[in-house]
Amino acid sequence: MSLEENILQVRQNIALAAREAGRDPGEITLCAATKIQSDAVIRAAIAAGITVCGENRVQEMTAHLDADAYAGAELHFIGHLQTNKVRHVVGRVELIESVDSPRLLEAIERQAAGLDIVQDILLEVNVAGEERKSGVEPKELESLAQLASELPHVRLRGLMTVPPVGGGHQFFQKMRQFFVDIKRKMPHNENDIDCLSMGMSGDYMEAVREGATQVRVGSALFGARPPRHPPI
Ligand SMILES: *Cc1c(COP(=O)(O)O)cnc(C)c1O
Repeated sequence: MSLEENILQVRQNIALAAREAGRDPGEITLCAATKIQSDAVIRAAIAAGITVCGENRVQEMTAHLDADAYAGAELHFIGHLQTNKVRHVVGRVELIESVDSPRLLEAIERQAAGLDIVQDILLEVNVAGEERKSGVEPKELESLAQLASELPHVRLRGLMTVPPVGGGHQFFQKMRQFFVDIKRKMPHNENDIDCLSMGMSGDYMEAVREGATQVRVGSALFGARPPRHPPI
């Protein structure tokens, strides 16, 4: 199938899942995970209606930015972010989805303050407590959210997760609960917290049924990646 057909298919599936859950399909954002794609493919995706691109490697993203490949779309950073690379990301993307430590949060705050901007962020949650997986542990989520809400150049917009393969359902439900809890516990930021980013090619319909407001889809749009490029 062509890229255009894939985009149409994924959008139809999102709408179907939303309706099954009694939700308005319009409240769900499709973020195209564009890792390893060329400038040309990214431009084609945007021409075909993609409005949000997600990148997870700083170097690739920088090259695409230099080529102006994302023109016409929002850009999100969705991969693991090292503190020493923060300067390449802050102010260049609409949303950093993968903030998972006080140290990273403070580095983003400093960089954003230097640029005199407010950087939108999500907190990435290691929802299943997997070893060697990025994301804040659920028990530390509240204090990280508290810290984020106190930093003047950071705006907490919500939560993101990459659950274990095949484990979708229960972890999506957990995330939904964390999302509701965080909103309730941050009364001053409640209106800013509107994004629950979860669901990838294999489970985005499930994620939508469980309350995702954003899904990040790569291979279902662009085709399978070679094995040396795992999903995370
Ligand atoms: C690659 C990637 C995705 C999309 O993965 P697919 O299985 O190809 O849809 C989503 N989120 C993150 C963080 C990724 O790195």
